[in-house]
Amino acid sequence: MPQIRPIVKNAHGRADLKIVSFNIYPEKDRRYFYKVVVFPDHAAMHAYFRSARGQGDKFVAVTLSWPLDVCRKLSRNSKNKRRCMGEILFDLTCVGAEIVTHEMTHAATHYAELKKINPFKNAAQNERFADIQGNLVHQMVKRLRMQKIYRKKVAAMYRLPG
Ligand SMILES: [Zn+2]
Repeated sequence: MPQIRPIVKNAHGRADLKIVSFNIYPEKDRRYFYKVVVFPDHAAMHAYFRSARGQGDKFVAVTLSWPLDVCRKLSRNSKNKRRCMGEILFDLTCVGAEIVTHEMTHAATHYAELKKINPFKNAAQNERFADIQGNLVHQMVKRLRMQKIYRKKVAAMYRLPG
């Protein structure tokens, strides 16, 4: 499997192994969000997944969506107005356009289901869904570029099932 060295360097020029984390919002009201976590490498991401899920799995990035009833329950009980819908895990060596769009599709469809938006129903709902997808991809690319970790090319390994 090809390996790409992390491009984030600290003051000493060494690879910075910190985890990058931020929230992304499907719509402008910012009521719901996904937490995005970018791990320094594949192994760190999988170690986190194993500790959270109790077992490993094969993926190059993953969207962990909380079930709809959990999202709704959170929205009733939470004092915080913003509601988490799940976590999206990436590894720093694999955050290019294809993998970002792939994961944003999972996030957008989950949000659409939660909000009962059906993109096949009519032009207005199709437009709203397209806006949600666009919002998520935009925020991802913006944050990844700010962190200088957006990759125009990714290793062929992203083609593994995920
Ligand atoms: Zn997938």
